[in-house]
Amino acid sequence: MRLKIGIIHNNEAKSLKVHEDLLKLVAKNDNFTVVEHDPELVITIGGDGTLLSAFHRYSHKLDTVRFLGVHTGHLGFYTDWRDYELEEMVDSLCSDRDKSVSYPLLDVVVNFEDGRHKHFLAMNESTVRKGNRTMVADVYIKDELFERFRGDGLSISTPTGSTAYNKSVGGAVVHPSISAMQLAEIASLNNRVFRTLGSPSIIGPDEWIEIFLNTDGKHMVTIDQLDVSGGGIRSIQYKIAEERIHFASYKHMHFWHRVKDAFIRED
Ligand code: NAD
Repeated sequence: MRLKIGIIHNNEAKSLKVHEDLLKLVAKNDNFTVVEHDPELVITIGGDGTLLSAFHRYSHKLDTVRFLGVHTGHLGFYTDWRDYELEEMVDSLCSDRDKSVSYPLLDVVVNFEDGRHKHFLAMNESTVRKGNRTMVADVYIKDELFERFRGDGLSISTPTGSTAYNKSVGGAVVHPSISAMQLAEIASLNNRVFRTLGSPSIIGPDEWIEIFLNTDGKHMVTIDQLDVSGGGIRSIQYKIAEERIHFASYKHMHFWHRVKDAFIRED
């Protein structure tokens, strides 16, 4: 049986060239067939953003689809292969068809005042923010009021998303083998009157968070690159999703090596 491959790329010149080269390599190989619909393996060519958009395109089929990223810019967190390693990548796909690693995702439900709700899966994070005014929100953990938050907003991230927006707001880097979600504050107001914990919190697999919005007007809830904005949002519920994202593990870099490479190494 030929492995059904879907290819998603951004429109950078380098990615278009890599796409062309990959199509030629795959055409010569009896193990694969490139498909538009129902792929078993999705290869992305570009950066982390390209893999994030591929994830959202196939987030309803995570039990049958694996992902693999080729990066054409600087080192990505979800993109293992380099553009000049295509032949090696295709060879390893032939010899190691079913091997994969999986990482936790975030389950997000946005509840509206009128009773509607919307469900999402996030690979990096979801944030809740209010544009021009202070956001006031009650944070419940496992149905118990934890704190009343005042400030710009809150970020809830997955372990693989911990190196993305979460890190920019002072969150901890979490190894992706840990099944957890992280709650981090975005510019909280802390003084003698208003008080929040003031540090990021790591929440375990049997717990859930619900954020009730106490301010009128428009809020923005982001889910990776997507956003739900407008009025009428009552609360947002977060838990670690039952679904996981599966990556083809043909070339998996040591996580802390990747962190060092992205944030510390100077050469
Ligand atoms: P993008 O593709 O331009 O990504 C923005 C940057 O975030 C890129 O440098 C990308 O490599 C990096 N990135 C994405 N996921 C990462 C991860 N898991 N670990 C480390 N770095 C990661 O922009 P986009 O397509 O809009 O991607 C959306 C993501 O960008 C969001 O999920 C968010 O995490 C991130 N982002 C970060 C900031 C920030 O740090 N201030 C602001 C906006 C968006």
